Amino acid sequence: MAAPDASPHPPCVFCDIIARRAPGHIIYEDPSAIAFLDIFPFTRGHLLVVPKHHGARLTDLSAEDRAGLIHALHEVCHRVDRITDDYNVALNAGARAGQVVFHVHFHVIPRYGEANPFNPRVRRPLDGDEAKRLVAELSSP
Ligand code: AMP
Ligand code: ZN
Repeated sequence: MAAPDASPHPPCVFCDIIARRAPGHIIYEDPSAIAFLDIFPFTRGHLLVVPKHHGARLTDLSAEDRAGLIHALHEVCHRVDRITDDYNVALNAGARAGQVVFHVHFHVIPRYGEANPFNPRVRRPLDGDEAKRLVAELSSP
């Protein structure tokens, strides 16, 4: 279901995941959006929900792509309910807001009682076995 992106923008790791040019632990995909595990999670099950059409910011997307993104976010939130009742949804817009990948995305960050999971020092690279378990838990509709 991948939709290769041929638009003229700088190389983009999320476009590469969407087009299967780069690996990703994908848990959800529909014609307009995709969701995969963050490779440097704040908490177990940290996910990114990403439109297939490249745009740096939410305000760069067409109305159709925005609607598709919210539809995907809603579905992903339902799946996160399988692992915890509590989560944060975040969108970083612009470098001074912490955006480092300039392809718009929502973070869905499960919470398990941490005081402050947004401390960069608590982040660890995603473990491969844990990723497989999470993909198994979250991939089914
Ligand atoms: P932001 O700071 O909102 O731009 O977040 C970008 C997120 O993308 C960070 O949490 C990164 O850990 C994550 N990330 C970067 N490269 C990849 C990748 N190849 N696969 C999955 N997540 C990634
Ligand atoms: Zn992109």
